[in-house]
Amino acid sequence: MNKIGETINQRKKLKQNIKLIHEESSYNKIQNFDVPKGLYEKCPQCERTINTKQNIENDYVCKHCGYHFRMRAVDRLKYVLDEDTFIEKGIGYITLNPLFQEGYEEKIAAYKKATNLDEAYVYGFGQIYGEPCVIGVMDSYFLMGSMGSVVGEKVAQTFEYAIYKKLPVIIFTASGGARMQEGIFSLMQMAKTSAAVAKYANLGYLYISVLTHPTTGGVTASFASLGDIILAEPNALIGFAGPRVIEQTIKQKLPDDFQKSEFLLKKGFVDLIVHRKDLKKTLAKLLNFHRRIN
Ligand SMILES: [Zn+2]
Repeated sequence: MNKIGETINQRKKLKQNIKLIHEESSYNKIQNFDVPKGLYEKCPQCERTINTKQNIENDYVCKHCGYHFRMRAVDRLKYVLDEDTFIEKGIGYITLNPLFQEGYEEKIAAYKKATNLDEAYVYGFGQIYGEPCVIGVMDSYFLMGSMGSVVGEKVAQTFEYAIYKKLPVIIFTASGGARMQEGIFSLMQMAKTSAAVAKYANLGYLYISVLTHPTTGGVTASFASLGDIILAEPNALIGFAGPRVIEQTIKQKLPDDFQKSEFLLKKGFVDLIVHRKDLKKTLAKLLNFHRRIN
């Protein structure tokens, strides 16, 4: 076979692989998840017992006290986007072990199995009440939503893809911060994602950051804080270092509501606190209001 023939064959193979990857999209794999009957859980705030199925139907908000439970990425996408509008992008990335940390590969494999996700972040195209956008969601059930090389790459790609599509970006953050097992490679993602946001912002597009419980560490210190509009869910923990570390450093007692979204709203860090039941409408309004003419 000549060289051109070889290239064509290679391309065909690549196309097949891409198709395969799309069929294996983590979003498709987990959206038909069934909750076993008779399952109950305890609300961490009011400590009452809640039926899991009812809790899911109530968008993971406690019906007694309004506590906002953590949500898996797929559930976020399901409740915030119009039905069947989500097209996942950035599929098929493999998390490596650049620093040869013992047990890291096994850990990743276990989380993949438990969550049915490839990594702690999912992004793609979607519509909210007909308003198109590029949407990214972190999943705190995958290694505490920590940001390693793959998460950083996919977050940066979210903005690149939005530039290509000339669309606004919405990112839901939920993270324990940088991924310890990837050391310096993880920290580099802070610069990388921030640079991607800057490039996108310089072109005049809209970026809405939605901070959910918990958003901490390197994610707060990079793309989570760089939104043109920063929304937060009620009572969410948002911060960089933990309160104990700060108290020891500055040798002062911190206020009780320190690092909660309500406190950050008072200080001007957060623009608006939105109850989960109003979130979809609020996002649609913001997208509509900032829609570009060209
Ligand atoms: Zn409750």
